[in-house]
Amino acid sequence: MENKKECPICGCKEIGEGRQIAHGAMFPLKGFFKTGSEVIAEICTNCGHIISMRVKYPEKFK
Ligand SMILES: [Zn+2]
Repeated sequence: MENKKECPICGCKEIGEGRQIAHGAMFPLKGFFKTGSEVIAEICTNCGHIISMRVKYPEKFK
């Protein structure tokens, strides 16, 4: 994973990755998938700002 991102709030360059599973899983509104997709967030380790969030399996949301 690239690690050259920078927090737009505090300028900290130490960006950690977090995963949301269980309650934080994202499920498609339509479709018949029974499982959602894990959400991966990039989080500033200094101020806690969430820089980006994405789902692990975006094809589920087509
Ligand atoms: Zn920050």
